[in-house]
Order: sequence, then structure tokens, then C-alpha cells
Amino acid sequence: MTARPAWLPWLCWLAWLIALPAPALAWYEVAEQSQPLGLHLSLLPTPEPISLAAAIRARQNGAFQPSQHDVPRLGIGAAAHWLYLPLFNPSDRPLRRTLQLGKAWVDQLDVHLLSNGRLLQQLQAGDDQLRGLQATPGMGYLLALELPPGRSELYVHARSTDPLVLPMRLLSDSDVQQASAAVQYSYGALYGFLLALMAYNLMLWAGLKDRNNLNYSLYLGAFILLNLSYTGHAGAWLWPDSLFLKRYANPAMMSAAAWLGLHFARHFLELDAHAPRLARAVSRGATTSVLLMLLCIGLDWHAPALWLAFVSVLVYTLLMVLLGCICLRHGQVAARYFLAATLCGMLGTALTDLSVWGLVPFSTLTYRAVDIGIALEASLLALALAYQMRQHQRALRRAQSLAYSDPLTGLLNRRAFIEQGNALWSTTRRHGQPLTLIMFDLDHFKRINDEHGHDMGDDCLTATARVLTQQCRAGDLLARWGGEEFLLLLPATRVDEAVALAERLRHAIASLTLESRVGQLTLSASFGVVSREQHTRLEELISSADERLYRAKQDGRNRVCGPQTDYC
Ligand code: GH3
Ligand code: MG
Ligand code: MG
Repeated sequence: MTARPAWLPWLCWLAWLIALPAPALAWYEVAEQSQPLGLHLSLLPTPEPISLAAAIRARQNGAFQPSQHDVPRLGIGAAAHWLYLPLFNPSDRPLRRTLQLGKAWVDQLDVHLLSNGRLLQQLQAGDDQLRGLQATPGMGYLLALELPPGRSELYVHARSTDPLVLPMRLLSDSDVQQASAAVQYSYGALYGFLLALMAYNLMLWAGLKDRNNLNYSLYLGAFILLNLSYTGHAGAWLWPDSLFLKRYANPAMMSAAAWLGLHFARHFLELDAHAPRLARAVSRGATTSVLLMLLCIGLDWHAPALWLAFVSVLVYTLLMVLLGCICLRHGQVAARYFLAATLCGMLGTALTDLSVWGLVPFSTLTYRAVDIGIALEASLLALALAYQMRQHQRALRRAQSLAYSDPLTGLLNRRAFIEQGNALWSTTRRHGQPLTLIMFDLDHFKRINDEHGHDMGDDCLTATARVLTQQCRAGDLLARWGGEEFLLLLPATRVDEAVALAERLRHAIASLTLESRVGQLTLSASFGVVSREQHTRLEELISSADERLYRAKQDGRNRVCGPQTDYC
């Protein structure tokens, strides 16, 4: 083998430099994997419109600046921009790629594909014209390109009063399928969840007539419409032919959602009761912003409408959290759920807004943070509504139990005894079962009050009630009929069994010893026992029991008077 001359590698390197195409660094080599192309772009702001030829000249003169972000975000009402992307197709045949560009709200995109200075393709898209390509829901604009082998150049003119957000990727057919499946499933799940929640709350409202359910459904509805609108779903399905709605649906729905959210919060948090002045101020502020929005739309002021919408949403999210904090301080327990819910919503909205404005990185996660936030917010608000409903039910049950029970002993009061006693009367009669009634009265109770004090008298009554509940069966009705007078209605109980129970009760009451400040005290009670025979109404049975009780008192107290004189 002969030795290789030392200068040969240098010669090879020189030949490689001359012979190979210009370094492919600046040229984006079209690969199988798609990725955000922002960092391969260079941009030129053009406040005054310039032609493609002028843009090409400006680029050749070095006027374009490289983009600093992988997703260029140029703000609301930004100047129109030219974008330039040099492409390199390493294969020897044309490559079909889909250019995924911008968001559905971007007003106008003019795409030019050039090769060797020759215009190969020109495509138009955007939501302020009907003749160009319309956005694919959830995916922005999808433009079919055929990239020739070797180098080609992409010039895009982008103009928008809406936020000029320009994510750009080159997708293969399988990328498009995958991305579209992901978008369809995720939006399907989101809308399905929110629509089900909305429908459920509407049904609850129809059934329960609770305004909170209606307000909440309307708020959810506004959010769903807003989301459908800015993702391009509404533009494709609901108003494909309306340039007006494509232009104003986003800011209008942002304003409406903010107003409806605050309206819901005002009623849900009972703000008028806790902070009436704040409630009025919030309501007036929200209504003023909606009126201003209507004015902007009426006068066709697109950029002011957008600024107003973004500011409204920002103020709205901060206000919702503030209202939650205020109501929490006022001890409103449901405010805890409300606050957690609005914090989720606020974080999501803030992340998405900031990613669109360019203050945090733009990614699928940050762009869709609002969807996650609102789904969490909706779940927590539904929990908050359920919690509030439970509180109302508890209060109702408390009110009912106060209306039906004696507050001192917890036994049934007169009204409840008559109602439930009549029901028991009918069922026992239908089943041919006996029904007996015990009426008893504490002996010389006035004396106890006089000697030991009224509080001690109360203690005697509660101790007696405790004896009753311990000795009786679950189906028996126990009531405090008057001051120190009690009734027991016993279904499926024969009179001898009732008399035996009365005796047991008499003994149990007599063996109660209570400590008072003047020493120990004991109780006794007199009982009247009666069973249903010729009686046609519960009241008649009560009168009979009352007569027997009277006889027991007459005969010396601390005794049971039943149907047979032996018992008495
Ligand atoms: P008798 O043996 O004949 O039944 O005599 P009595 O003293 O028990 O009956 P009377 O009807 O003369 O007095 C009943 C007393 O019960 C009078 C009233 O002040 C008292 N009383 C009624 N309700 C309550 C109550 O809720 N708490 C207390 N501590 N006393 C009550
Ligand atoms: Mg637009
Ligand atoms: Mg008495």
C-alpha cells in the first residue's frame, strides 16, 4: 500500500466546499417528523402593504429578521408581516406536505411557494374572506403544498386584527391524520362533558326552579360557544357564510361569558346579602362592558372590541377570585368550592391568554390550558351547586323537624302525633291489627318546679323522654302532648301488653333519681291505657285515655289505669 500524500485531505475538503450545495443550515430540511418551524422563519413587519416581489427584494437586502420563538406571536392589532421559510427537500421527487399555519381567527394568510425564483403555488386562507381556504376546526389552516426536490422558498403574508399567532408546521399525511384524530377526540370529550353538564343543570332548573342552575347553564353555554368560535368549529359548522360573525363572535362571546360568569357568581355567592354595594358595582361594571362591546360591534371597531374583550376576561377572572375570597370571609361555606373552581378556571385562562400574547411559551398544553381549566372549573362548580343544594335540604329538614318535634325532649309534638297517628290508625285497621294508646302525666310536677326550679323541671322532662325512647319499639309513636303529659301510640300491641309496658315505664320513672341544688328528687307518673274498640277516630281514643289517666290520678297517682278495674 502506498503512503497517502499529506495534502490529499485538504484537497478533498476544498473540493467538498466548492462542489456541495450551500450549507443546508439555514434551509429547513423537510423530514418525516413534523416540528414547530418558528425558529427557521425570518420576519418582516410591513405596516404598509408590499408586493411579493418587494418582499423578495427586502429579504435579499437582509431586511428580514430571524424569529426568536418557535411560535411567532405578534399581538392584537399587530402590523401585517411577511414570513420567509427556506425549504430543502432532500429526496429526488416532489414531497406532498400539509402546511399547518395560524389559528382559526387569523384574518388573512397569503402563501407563496417558489423555486428558483419561479412561483409554484399560491394559496389564500383566513377568516375575513369567504373565497380563501377556511380553517379546519381545532387545527388552524391546512394548506396542501407540493415541495419540489432540492430547494424551495415559502413566503407568507399574514395580516390580522385578531391576535396574530402563527404556529407553523409541515405535516405528512399520517401526521395530519394523527393530529386530526387527537383534536377530534379531545374536543369531542370537552364539548360532550360541558354540554352534558349544561343539559343536566337545565333539567335541574326545570325541576327545582333554582336560578343558580339556570345561570350556571347559561354561563357554560356561553363558554362552549366561545370555545367553538375561537377554535373554528363554529365558523365551519354554525356560521360558514357570515364574515360578520367570524369577525365579532370571539370578542362578543368573551364579553358574554364574562357577564354571565359574574351574574352566576352574584347569585350563587348571595353577594347582594353579603356585600350589596360590591354586588351593584360588579353588576354595573359588567353591564357597561357589554354595552361598550355592543357599541364597538355596531360601529365596526374591530381592534377596540378585541382589546375590550381581553381586558373584560382578565378583569372577570380576577373579580371571580376576589368575590370568592370576600364570601369566604363572610363565612359562606359554598364559597370554598367556588374559589377552588374559579382558581382552576383563572389559571387555565391566564395560561392560554399569556401564551397567545407571547408572555409564556406557546405549546399545545399552554394553548389548551383554558380547556383543562374550564373542565375542572365546571366540575368544581357543579360540586359547589350540589353542596349548596345539600345545605338547603339540610336547612329544610331542620325546619321540618322543628315544626314536627318538641324542642325540649325531641319527641313528636301534637301536630306530628295527630298526623302520623292517623296514618298508623288506618294501616293497623287495614291489617286488622290492634292499636293501643298510653297517656301518662308526671305527678305533682308543679311542686317540683316550685321546690327545685324550672330548669330542674326541664331536666325531669328530658329524663322521662329518655326513659320512653329506651323502653319503646321503633314503630311506636312517642309524643309530648302538653306540659308534663305524654302519649304513646302502640301499633300491633294488645292492651295487656300495653299495660305491662306502662307498668315498666312507671317503675323506670320512679327509679329515676335526679340531683338538684336542694338534694335528690324522685318522680312518679300516672298512666291511662286504652285500646281501640268502638272508637272511630284517634281523638276519641285520646279522650278515653285521658279519662283513665284522670281516674289514675283520682285513685292516688303513681299507678296504671287500664280497661280492667284490677289494673287501676
Ligand atoms: P298532677 O299530679 O295533678 O298532675 O299535678 P301537677 O302539679 O303535675 O299538675 P299541674 O297541671 O297543676 O301543673 C303542671 C305544671 O307543669 C305547671 C307548669 O308550670 C309545669 N310545666 C309545664 N310545661 C313545663 C315545661 O316545659 N318545663 C317545666 N319545667 N315545667 C313545665
Ligand atoms: Mg379574524
Ligand atoms: Mg301533672
